[in-house]
Amino acid sequence: MPNVHGPVSLFWFRRDLRTVDNHGLWQALRREPQVMPVFILDEDILKRLPARDARVEFILEALRALNQQFCGRLRVLYGKPKAVFARLFEQHNISAVFTNEDYEPYARRRDQAVAKFCRANGAEFLSFKDQVIFGPEEILKDDGTPYKVYGAYARRWRARYQEDPPHLFASSPLLAKALSKNKIAPAPRDKMPTLGDLGFKTTGMTFPPNKSSRIHGYARHRDLIGEDATSHLGIHLRFGTRSVRQLFQAAAPIDDTFASELIWREFFMQILYHFPHSAQAPFDPRYEHIRWRNDKAQFKRWCLGKTGYPLVDAGMRELNATGFMHNRARMITASFLCKHLLIDWRWGERYFAEKLLDYDMAANVGNWQWAAGSGCDAAPYFRVFNPTLQQKKFDANGKYVKRWVPELRSESYPEPMVEHEFARRRALRVYNEGLKK
Ligand SMILES: Cc1cc2nc3c(=O)[nH]c(=O)nc-3n(C[C@H](O)[C@H](O)[C@H](O)COP(=O)(O)OP(=O)(O)OC[C@H]3O[C@@H](n4cnc5c(N)ncnc54)[C@H](O)[C@@H]3O)c2cc1C
Repeated sequence: MPNVHGPVSLFWFRRDLRTVDNHGLWQALRREPQVMPVFILDEDILKRLPARDARVEFILEALRALNQQFCGRLRVLYGKPKAVFARLFEQHNISAVFTNEDYEPYARRRDQAVAKFCRANGAEFLSFKDQVIFGPEEILKDDGTPYKVYGAYARRWRARYQEDPPHLFASSPLLAKALSKNKIAPAPRDKMPTLGDLGFKTTGMTFPPNKSSRIHGYARHRDLIGEDATSHLGIHLRFGTRSVRQLFQAAAPIDDTFASELIWREFFMQILYHFPHSAQAPFDPRYEHIRWRNDKAQFKRWCLGKTGYPLVDAGMRELNATGFMHNRARMITASFLCKHLLIDWRWGERYFAEKLLDYDMAANVGNWQWAAGSGCDAAPYFRVFNPTLQQKKFDANGKYVKRWVPELRSESYPEPMVEHEFARRRALRVYNEGLKK
């Protein structure tokens, strides 16, 4: 039995809930004689969530699977991260904390505070790139500034990938060896918290499988909403139950469009990293003066999927029922909220943040700003999606709409809440006025 009182290193899991190809875990296992895997259920994050939140269930499921792989030695602790570390440092002789980088503003502040605490207490704090193929500081223009346009960013990203393909940290054999050698520090018998212990209730939602079977034919089918032909891997990328390195390597030779979507993911991550103001304010400050109408009753109809536009309603109902919405429907519902209803994109962004299983701050903010026209490389504000034409084009046989709006042909289905042409002109006028200020 290894010495529980001897020096131990921690591996702190966050958005990387897997053992295979986990860079930070691999480094810890490779270098350290004893590793204690830890996950912190962050009180500050959990307290803000509603009592039913499927993402908490997803995390607990992933933690149970990890715990099995660690033969019951994963420590799952609840509290504010710094306070949890203070407890751990009292209980153990910790020499180093290993983790993987997280680029969201809150995570960066949290990690700086924990790193300072560790160093003040004589331990190293080591953080590795894992959640992305290229980090926000790696793909920059020649003058060292960040890209704001996707096309140019993606070209540089791809060139870098050719020159410097990512190394895989497929730690399965290493992990098996580590476990057989008892390298994983024995954990005190903490009980794995249940949903009820954390004050949450079950949602009954099911989660998409962690499979890449939908990559074949992705480019041809991805926009056909009724076919539901995208990968649904968003939640796995969000929580790291899927390695982006392995996914990209496997997918790129099969479907280049799919590969581009993974580059979009990294593009928005670096935008949020370099321009953190964009989480709350328009990326482009010229859009600060749009006079949103912000009608609460209209917002409610949009949330419930009762706008009278079948494709918009289908999208919102899919989101409310499953925690997922097809990408094209996300684009159309978002555009409808900002342009047709002139409701501030931040209201919609918050609603999606509450509901999406694959919610990711960088992707959500980036795409909402794209839809509102205020983001980097955004859709020009004067291009207003016509939801009826979009339906004809991308749900021609009505499969999607019939699935989510079964009462479409009945009297109970509402009239469109605003006429398209009127709304389009009004949006152009209001945007124009805002941009002149
Ligand atoms: C208004 C709006 C809000 C969005 N909010 C989110 C969000 O919170 N989280 C999120 O992951 N994506 C978001 N997206 C992007 C995109 O809609 C989803 O990533 C995609 O629909 C998820 O389904 P999938 O996993 O089947 O993706 P696939 O189409 O199979 O794509 C594979 C992966 O590529 C990435 N990806 C694809 N499209 C984009 C994109 N436009 N921007 C960034 N990454 C992308 C995702 O990680 C996705 O899982 C949003 C899009 C819009 C228009």
